[in-house]
Amino acid sequence: MNATSKNTTSKPRWSPLIILLLVALVAVLFSLLVMEKATDKVAVMVDGKVQEQRVYQWRMVTTWPKDFPGLGTTAQEFANMVESMSGGRLQIRVYGAGEIVPAMGVFDAVSDGSAEMGHGGSYYWRGKAPAAQFFTTIPFGMNAQEMNAWLHHGGGLELWREVYAPFNIIPFPGGNTGIQMAGWFNKEINNIEDLRGLKMRIPGLAGDVFNRAGGSSVNIPGGELYTSLQTGVIDAAEWVGPSNDQAFGFDQIARYYYYPGWQEPGSTLELLVNKPAFEALPADLQAIVTHAARAANQDMLDQYTARNPRALNDMVAKEGTELRRLPDDVIQRLYDISRELFEQQAEEDPLFRKVWDSYRTFLADVTDYHKITEHTYYDIREQVKADAAGSEGEE
Ligand code: CA
Repeated sequence: MNATSKNTTSKPRWSPLIILLLVALVAVLFSLLVMEKATDKVAVMVDGKVQEQRVYQWRMVTTWPKDFPGLGTTAQEFANMVESMSGGRLQIRVYGAGEIVPAMGVFDAVSDGSAEMGHGGSYYWRGKAPAAQFFTTIPFGMNAQEMNAWLHHGGGLELWREVYAPFNIIPFPGGNTGIQMAGWFNKEINNIEDLRGLKMRIPGLAGDVFNRAGGSSVNIPGGELYTSLQTGVIDAAEWVGPSNDQAFGFDQIARYYYYPGWQEPGSTLELLVNKPAFEALPADLQAIVTHAARAANQDMLDQYTARNPRALNDMVAKEGTELRRLPDDVIQRLYDISRELFEQQAEEDPLFRKVWDSYRTFLADVTDYHKITEHTYYDIREQVKADAAGSEGEE
């Protein structure tokens, strides 16, 4: 009897428990869903009232090692600025080269939307569009001040956007290194013949110029440069300038540090934004991206201008780096080759021609003006200092 009654009552006794468990499970899932939704919104004040607004979470892939001084840190500082300016409504996670995509995969990742943003240098994408090279720098081209003026007020940025439009990418200037150094060598360069057979990391149009001068150019991402130079995969390398080059330790493995950076006289870095992702943002977040990019663009230049002098002095004083100026006839030959090359490329590619025409017209105008302002001022500043030192000596 007992056994029978157990059998007949067991079913109804378990069912409420199962129902209770199911209800609990649904409640847990629902609360998880609510929590998930809650992290996608932040409370903001709009017209004196608290409103919940959507949080956008973006990824930024970069061509630099994560947090690499100047280059990588600028990408992170941009992301920090955007997050604080937007009250947390636009969050951008920055990835170093190789974390999601390799350094040279940044353009494609932003183009296909697998990352909403990228940070790199436009001359890396010359295989996509030869005209892209103008927006980083070209041999014997504009300095940082001139580049910023051309891009922001001389039609340069409009042209850059035209060049990237087929790739669904909106570019923003996102940093400037100032005039770079000509690079690290383990032999002296006394004439153009000394470049013959030299394998050097030197990207962009400068690499083509270097090839025509008898050398052999390669483009190696920053993160692989030290090992390449150390193991003799390359004989020489240009990277950025004293503070970055010291951080990589080039002074430990190369003897001669040549200047001036004829090949990169004011390199602009780029912040790339996937076009549909940008267009999906509300207008205020678009404005925040735009103005944070402008701030990051200027701040990188300020950092380099502040840090490079000490880094150079350190390397020369402590590490035995031998500073050398490229001979005038080597510079002249490189200039002549550059002009031939630009003309030739302009013949082959109408968009290259269009950008080159804008670039050189702007450069010609600003050069004439800078002859009587910047150029004269630098000269007289040195001259008065020398005269004052001379008259002190006479006393
Ligand atoms: Ca460089």
